[in-house]
Amino acid sequence: EPFDQADRMVLDAIGAIAQGALANADLYRQVHMERGRLASITLNIGEGVCAVDAAGNLTFVNPAAAALVRLPSREIAVGDDLPAEALRAPEFLLGPARAAMAAAGVVRDDDGCFEGPAGEPVNVSYTASAIQHNGEVVGAVISFQDITERKRLEATMARQAHYDSLTGLANRRLLVERLESALERSSRDGKRHALIFVDVDRFKAINDSLGHGTGDDLLTAVGSRMRQVAGSKALVARFGGDEFVILLEDVGGVDEAVTAARRICAAVEMPLILADGYEIVASVSAGIALAEPGQTADDLLHDADVAMYRAKGRGGTWQVFDRAVMGSRSSDRIDLEAALRKGIERGELEVYYQPIVSVADERIVGAEALVRWRHPTEGLVSPDRFVPMAEETGLILPMGAFVLNEVCRRIRSIRAGLGVDVPISVNLSPRQFQQSSLLGEVASALDRAGLPSSLLKFEITETMVMDDLAGATEIMKRLNRLGVRLAIDDFGTGHSSLGYLKNFPVHEVKVDRTFVNNLAFDRVDAAIVGAVVDLADAMGIQAVAEGVETAEQLTALRQLRCHNAQGYLFSRPVPGEDFEALLSAQLLPEVETIELRAV
Ligand code: C2E
Ligand code: CA
Ligand code: CA
Repeated sequence: EPFDQADRMVLDAIGAIAQGALANADLYRQVHMERGRLASITLNIGEGVCAVDAAGNLTFVNPAAAALVRLPSREIAVGDDLPAEALRAPEFLLGPARAAMAAAGVVRDDDGCFEGPAGEPVNVSYTASAIQHNGEVVGAVISFQDITERKRLEATMARQAHYDSLTGLANRRLLVERLESALERSSRDGKRHALIFVDVDRFKAINDSLGHGTGDDLLTAVGSRMRQVAGSKALVARFGGDEFVILLEDVGGVDEAVTAARRICAAVEMPLILADGYEIVASVSAGIALAEPGQTADDLLHDADVAMYRAKGRGGTWQVFDRAVMGSRSSDRIDLEAALRKGIERGELEVYYQPIVSVADERIVGAEALVRWRHPTEGLVSPDRFVPMAEETGLILPMGAFVLNEVCRRIRSIRAGLGVDVPISVNLSPRQFQQSSLLGEVASALDRAGLPSSLLKFEITETMVMDDLAGATEIMKRLNRLGVRLAIDDFGTGHSSLGYLKNFPVHEVKVDRTFVNNLAFDRVDAAIVGAVVDLADAMGIQAVAEGVETAEQLTALRQLRCHNAQGYLFSRPVPGEDFEALLSAQLLPEVETIELRAV
C-alpha cells in the first residue's frame, strides 16, 4: 500500500530527525575528538596547567602541575578526573587566577613564586587566562613553567662575575668597580677612602708543604676572619692568590685605616683550625694607603701594594704608604726587579756601616751593616725600596751573600789596619734566615776571611722568630753553635710579648726606634724601654736603642741604663772607609785628640 499523506509527513519528520541526529553525531564526534586531542596535549606537556572556577575551586590539574606544585590532595594528579567535592585551589594559584578573572583577560609573570610539593619555593613563569562563557567570566586557566634552575644559574653567573668562588668574598672586579665609583664620588663630596692590601706570609711554603687543599682552607678561613672583624662599612675582597684587599669608604683619616688594619691582622693571626684538623697560625703583611685627590683605583692599589711589600720586608706587620719613602708610580716593582738583578751582577751594591756606641761614653762598640744600591741613573736607592722586593723575588739571597762577604772583608781590614776587633751586625731577612744553606755560607765566609765567628752578628726580627717559634729557635741554636752572635731587631713592633724574649737564644735586643722617638716625653715608652733593659740585664745580654737622634733621648737612655745606642745623633750610616776613619779617630789617645782639636 502506497503511503498516504499522513504517513509521508511522519516519514519526512523521521528523515529530518535522522538527518539531524546524523549531523549531531558528527558534531559530537568532532567535539569529542577535539577534546581528546586537547586533553592529551594538556596531559602530556611539561608545562603545568590548572583550571580554577569562579568560586576558586580547582577544576583541572594536569600531571605536570601535580608534580611541580603542592596541591590539596595527591589523588588529583590524574588529568580532569577531579573528585566530586570541591577542592579549594591553593593561594599561590588563586592570586593569578583572580587577577586574570578581574581583568577578564590574560595576566603574565616571569618572576612568580609557587609552592613545591614539600612547600619549598618554586620559581615559575606563568600565564593566567580568564575563561569566559556567554560573556561571563566563569574561571581561569593557569599555565606555568618551573624556572628555579634557570634562576639559580642566573644568580650563580651574577655571583661569579663579582664574587670569588673559593672564599665567597668580593672578587677583584667588584672591588675595582666599587673603588672607582667611590673615588669618582669623592671628587664631589670630598670623602676620603682607604685601602688595606693584605698578603698571607709564607703562603707559598704552606701551600707547597701541606697541599693545595689545605692552602685553600687557609685562604677561606683567613677571608672569613677578615670579614668578621672588618666592619659593615668595609668591602673585603680576594684580590687574587693569597692577596686580599679591604676597601674602607669614608674614613676620617689614616688613623682609622690603621686601627682597622691592626684589628684585621690581629684577628687573622689568632690560631685557625682548618677543615682537616690542622691548626695554623697564619701571619699577614698589610699595606695601608689613603686616597689622595685625583688618584685612580690603579694608583691607590699600587700604593697599598708597595706599602704591603715594605711591611713584608720588615718581617710582616703593617705599613702605611709614604710617598717620600716608597716612591711614586714610576718605580714599578717589575722594572725595579730587573734593574736590581742587573745591579747585583754589575756590582752596584755597596755596604754602609752605622756605628753602634756605648751609651755611657759614646765610644764605638760595633756597627750595623746596611746595604745600599748605587743605581746608575737614580743615585743611591734606599733599602726600603728594594729589600722587600728582593725578599719576595729571591734576589735577597745573592744580595745577602754579597753583604756577608763584604762585612767579613771589612772586619778583616779593620783588624789588619787598626789592630782592633769590632763586631759587625748583618741583617737577615726571613728568607735568608730560613734558607737551609745559611749555616754553610756563614761558616765558609768566616773561613775565607780567617775570622773568629764571634765578630759576626746577625739581626733577625722578632716576627721572623714568632712565625715559627720551634723552627726559628732551632736555627738560632745552630748559629749559636757556630759561634756567631744574634740580635733581635725592631723589638716591640711584632707580636711577641716581652716575656718571650727570655726564650730566644740571643745576645742582643734592639729596641725599635718607635719607642725611642718620644722617649724623653712619653712615660709609657720610657717604661717599655726600661723594662726591656731590665730584662736584658737579667738575661745578661745587651740592649741597643735604635734611631737615637737627640741629646734628650740619649739622656733618657742613660737614666734607664740602656747599654748601647745607634742613630743619627752619633753617625749616619757611612761607607766602609769612613767607618774605619771614625774608628781610628777614636783609637787615638785622649791627649792627642785634644791637641788635634786645638790645632
Ligand atoms: P733596620 O734593620 O731597622 O735598620 C735601621 C734603619 O734605621 C736603617 O735604615 C738606618 O739607616 C735607619 N736609621 C739609623 N739611625 C736612624 C735615626 O737616627 N733616625 C732614623 N729615622 N733612622 C735611622 P736603612 O739603611 O734605610 O735600612 C732600612 C731597612 O732595610 C733595615 O731596617 C733593614 O731591615 C733593611 N736592610 C738594610 N740593609 C740590609 C741588608 O743588608 N740585608 C737585609 N736583609 N736587610 C737590610
Ligand atoms: Ca737592623
Ligand atoms: Ca731595626
